[in-house]
Amino acid sequence: MGSKPDVCTSRSHPSSLPSRLHPSGPGTPRRRKHFEKVRLGFGLIWALPYTLVGLAVGALGLATGGGWQRRGRTLEFHGGWTTRFVRNLPARQSIAAITLGHTVLGQTRAVLDQVRSHEAVHVRQFERWGPFMGPAYLLASLWLWLGGGEPYWDNPFEREAYSEGCGRKIADGSRPSPTETTRRK
Ligand SMILES: [Zn+2]
Repeated sequence: MGSKPDVCTSRSHPSSLPSRLHPSGPGTPRRRKHFEKVRLGFGLIWALPYTLVGLAVGALGLATGGGWQRRGRTLEFHGGWTTRFVRNLPARQSIAAITLGHTVLGQTRAVLDQVRSHEAVHVRQFERWGPFMGPAYLLASLWLWLGGGEPYWDNPFEREAYSEGCGRKIADGSRPSPTETTRRK
């Protein structure tokens, strides 16, 4: 495994072929790159229902003085109506930012800088769960709440985001300082 001669180069001398005719073979960086492209394309479509909602809010934000920026495959919106939307989300704690598919809606640009790595984990969750992300997240929170747990901090989606994003570790049971939420006054 991995030591077989390249199929293409074994037929003719490597230098006689242009570089694009050198397939790298299965499991090689080239094949993995192709697989990664397909996976990302699927993730974009799979998460699209939520992305469209985020884009609609973001567009309203832009029309009311807000801003936007692209970070990787994610569009971030802040200010204007976007800030109002995020501030008025129903939650026990005030929400600083929320991910919807491939959009992140934040109260301010500074907040987006703070929560980016956390929200990037949520983006990957949307790519994995697609249309089921919302119901799965809410059901997990409901299940925790009914069992006397903490619907936000103990939610497995948040635990993953806090443990992977920002390099924070919560495996020892301690809670990280809030990033996307702030206490309501
Ligand atoms: Zn989160």
